[in-house]
Amino acid sequence: MRRLLIAGNWKMNMNHKTAVVLAEELKKAAENAAHLDVAACPPLVYLQAVANVFQGTKVGVGAQNGYFEEEGAFTGEISMGMIKDVGCKYVILGHSERRHILHETSDDVCLKTHAALKAGLTPIVCLGELLSEREAGTTDFVIRRQFDGSFSGLTSEQMKQVVIAYEPVWAIGTGKVATPDQAEEVHLGIRALLTERYGKDVAETVIIQYGGSVKADNAREILGKPNVDGALVGGASLKIDSFMGIINAAM
Ligand code: PEP
Repeated sequence: MRRLLIAGNWKMNMNHKTAVVLAEELKKAAENAAHLDVAACPPLVYLQAVANVFQGTKVGVGAQNGYFEEEGAFTGEISMGMIKDVGCKYVILGHSERRHILHETSDDVCLKTHAALKAGLTPIVCLGELLSEREAGTTDFVIRRQFDGSFSGLTSEQMKQVVIAYEPVWAIGTGKVATPDQAEEVHLGIRALLTERYGKDVAETVIIQYGGSVKADNAREILGKPNVDGALVGGASLKIDSFMGIINAAM
C-alpha cells in the first residue's frame, strides 16, 4: 500500500521569520496527519532553520534543487550531501521552472537523481508537458522522453526510492488544474512505463504525486484517483490554512 505524500514547494518565497512561523504552524497542525507523509521544501538558506523546527516530528524537509558533484570548485552550488547534512529527507529535481527558465535538461536531472540517492535523499523528480505539447497530442511522448532521460541507469532498487511528480507545466501557478481524469490518465501511463522498464513490483511501489494548482477545494477529487499518490503544492503551501486544507483532504 503506497502512502500519500503531500509536499509544499515554497519556491523563492518567505524570509527567515515567516519560514520559521509557517514551519511551527505546520508542525502543530500536521501532528494528527495519520497514514500520510508531509513535507515542506523551503529556499536553501532556510533549510536548516525549518529542519530544526521539524526535528523529532513526522514532517520532512526538502530542498528545491541540489548539484550532482559531491564537493569542489562549483561556486554557488550545494551538494546533495550538504542537503542531507542539514536534516533534509527530500530534494525536488527537474521542476519545470528549472527545466524551462534555467534550461536544466533531463541529463542534468539524471546526474542529480543518482547523486541524491547516493547521499541518502529521496528525490522528487518532476515530469510534465507544456500546453503546446498537450495540444499537439504529444504528452505521452514527452513524459516518456523525460522519464527515460531522468532515470537512465537507475537500478530497480534505486527506482523504488524515487518519488515522481507529474506536473503539467500549463497547470503550475496558473490556476488551471488538470481534471482528475486527465491526471489519472498520465499517472497510469507513468505506472505502465515503470512496469515496462522495472517490473510490476517497482511500479506498484513508486509514489506518483500530482502537481499543478492543487487547492483545498480540488484536492479531494484528484487525490481520490487510484494512481495519484499525493500532491506537490506550490502556491497553496504558503499559508497554513490552504496547505492544511489539502492535508485534510488527503486524510
Ligand atoms: C509547483 O510549483 O510544483 C506547483 C505545483 O505550483 P502550484 O501549486 O502553485 O501550481
